Amino acid sequence: MRKKIVAGNWKMNNDLNESISLINEIKEVLVEREDVKAIIAPTFVSLDRASQLLKGTNIGLSAQNMCYEDSGAFTGAISAKMLKSVGCEYVILGHSERRTLFGESNSDVNKKMKKAISEILTPIFCIGETLEERENGEMKTVIEKQVREGLEGISEAELTGTIVAYEPVWAIGTGKVATPDQAQEVHAFIRNLLKEMYSEELAENTTIQYGGSVKPENAAELNGRPDIDGALVGGACLKADSFVAIIKNA
Ligand code: PEP
Repeated sequence: MRKKIVAGNWKMNNDLNESISLINEIKEVLVEREDVKAIIAPTFVSLDRASQLLKGTNIGLSAQNMCYEDSGAFTGAISAKMLKSVGCEYVILGHSERRTLFGESNSDVNKKMKKAISEILTPIFCIGETLEERENGEMKTVIEKQVREGLEGISEAELTGTIVAYEPVWAIGTGKVATPDQAQEVHAFIRNLLKEMYSEELAENTTIQYGGSVKPENAAELNGRPDIDGALVGGACLKADSFVAIIKNA
């Protein structure tokens, strides 16, 4: 049975002191649940301290990105091994901001997926269409391409445990949330694709989060849909109260 997972993507917010305060606030107000897993994704500079602060909790620690190389002349890059060394268990890969602002392709995301999996870091594999693609009727084609190219060469055994995040680009940071029906349609499409590419078992056991302007007020309705398994949250995860309320409402 798959688990609901609510992950907070802090993006480029919170310096070290602010990160420490937010983690302490989350720990104070979060009542941990068996059926919903919480993950936070601070910036690289706060990961080491975050992992110390999260000891003794069930809150998972994620990075927001990583390089597919192990080491060497890659100025500014961080490897999977480095993330592991500071206690990271998860890594967000293929976020739409990485794709659109930093030019990451499906092939880059695929290399990162393979490297993360080989280093036993669980990927949060992000996919989603732009407004233009949706309006042109290309939504399913774009999602299918992201899934097939992003997962190329990855076996069922390797993919097991990976979290998928469906994030329509037009809903990220815009306040425009997909309706539960719109999100459910795409989640079911992705699950079906995983079934076609792998197996029913893999598809049924894969957590598919929704991301895009999730707030405490819409988390319950979205999560009431059969194929929506939690959330990847941006803006609303920067306050402990709203992040925790999303977890409660999921
Ligand atoms: C995100 O960055 O993954 C995201 C979903 O952001 P927001 O919740 O702010 O739309």
